[in-house]
Amino acid sequence: MEYESVIGLEVHAQLLTRSKIFCGCSTLFGAEPNTHTCPVCTGLPGSLPVLNQKVVEYTIRAALATHCRIAPYSQFARKNYFYPDLPKGYQISQYELPLATDGYVEIRVDGQIKRIDLIRIHMEEDAGKLLHDLSSDRGAYSYVDFNRTGVPLIEIVSAPVIRTPEEASAYLRKLRAILMFLDICDGNMEEGSFRCDANISLRPRGQKGFGVKTELKNMNSFRNVQKALDYEIRRQTGLLDQGEKIVQETRLWDAAKGVTASMRGKEEAHDYRYFPDPDLVPLAIDPQWVEKIRASLPELPDNKKERFIRDYGIPDYDADILTSSKALANYYEECLRSYAKPKVVSNWIMSELLRELKRDEREIEECPVPARHLGEMLQMMDEGLISGKMAKSVFEEMYRTGKRAQEVVKEKGWVQVSDSSEIDRIIDQVLAANPKEVEAYRKGKDKVLGFFVGQVMKATRGQANPQLVNDLLKKKFQ
Ligand SMILES: [Zn+2]
Repeated sequence: MEYESVIGLEVHAQLLTRSKIFCGCSTLFGAEPNTHTCPVCTGLPGSLPVLNQKVVEYTIRAALATHCRIAPYSQFARKNYFYPDLPKGYQISQYELPLATDGYVEIRVDGQIKRIDLIRIHMEEDAGKLLHDLSSDRGAYSYVDFNRTGVPLIEIVSAPVIRTPEEASAYLRKLRAILMFLDICDGNMEEGSFRCDANISLRPRGQKGFGVKTELKNMNSFRNVQKALDYEIRRQTGLLDQGEKIVQETRLWDAAKGVTASMRGKEEAHDYRYFPDPDLVPLAIDPQWVEKIRASLPELPDNKKERFIRDYGIPDYDADILTSSKALANYYEECLRSYAKPKVVSNWIMSELLRELKRDEREIEECPVPARHLGEMLQMMDEGLISGKMAKSVFEEMYRTGKRAQEVVKEKGWVQVSDSSEIDRIIDQVLAANPKEVEAYRKGKDKVLGFFVGQVMKATRGQANPQLVNDLLKKKFQ
């Protein structure tokens, strides 16, 4: 039997507000445990939540950037469950009336554009964090840190229209880029500011109805999302092929073992006993405010990509990669300010620069070569001060040491020899040392010219300008 996967993703993105969603406590990551807390976010009796307007504004930004409809009237709801990191015994979220619905994000997979529909975007508060200490000699202990309770999140729910792990990964990358272009989320997956759960089921190809789904959690990188989905597709296929049933449940991805394992039976929405939060008034969004926010939106990845293609004349493929993050797009444009050849810069960034970064697992923000310095180096190449081949070594050295091209070239003595009298002298030596080859060339064996060029390059330790060597050699034989 051939199966089709049906994947829907739920993304939780932490908003970059300075204070929490319902109190004035700081949202800063990494503080001493329980220092960013107050009666509201620790759920003390008698305390009342007050909505942070910035949270609503940021959510509207995300909604507009993903073509959602902003609900004129929305409401907060209590999602009831017990867990030690949830001091109130409920999480304030949105349920029946979310702030935004019916949007979409466009992704590109294998050269094809696909639209991923969004069902909704809603606001909610984050829970606290449990720290498990198994090493204590008094036995295992768990500690609760409430610094994260009440940190604002948006949950972005996609329709189950994703068909492959590759599409899932492309969608997440695009969504993360959009939020980062908007400056509303730092996108840090390791610190949990951008996290994703996946619902996945299989069905026989051609069938309309859905199969039984499992929910995957604990995937803290794009790679892990893709691997967990790959694994789950294999696991479910195996079960279905043997005529067994899929159990609806929540499964945790174990990155070290490369498997998903059952965590708990999946709850249904009615298990949470959602009801409108009586402490918070419903939200009536002023359409004028929405229009003001719309007018203030920055250039987003898709627009930027179109502009790069139009203004710089680079291929669609290049523009897609260069606009995959705001920092990379900025790097590209800054480099163009000191060296105005868009395709040359694009080639260098996509091959040399991204390769070095990938090898070091660094982001473009941590690149040791400032854009301006890359531009300077390319300029030196144009002026014939270094050859294209040397430039690669110069760049590697710049990346390794953080030095500028001029410095590297000076220190290493890598200057390209473009002095024709100097090269002429070396050519004479080479020809004198290889009389047989000279004879062969004179008899019409053209290929020997390459041999001479090679000998001259060798004698100059690769520093001679190869074009000049070629020209001068040909002149010799005229
Ligand atoms: Zn607080």
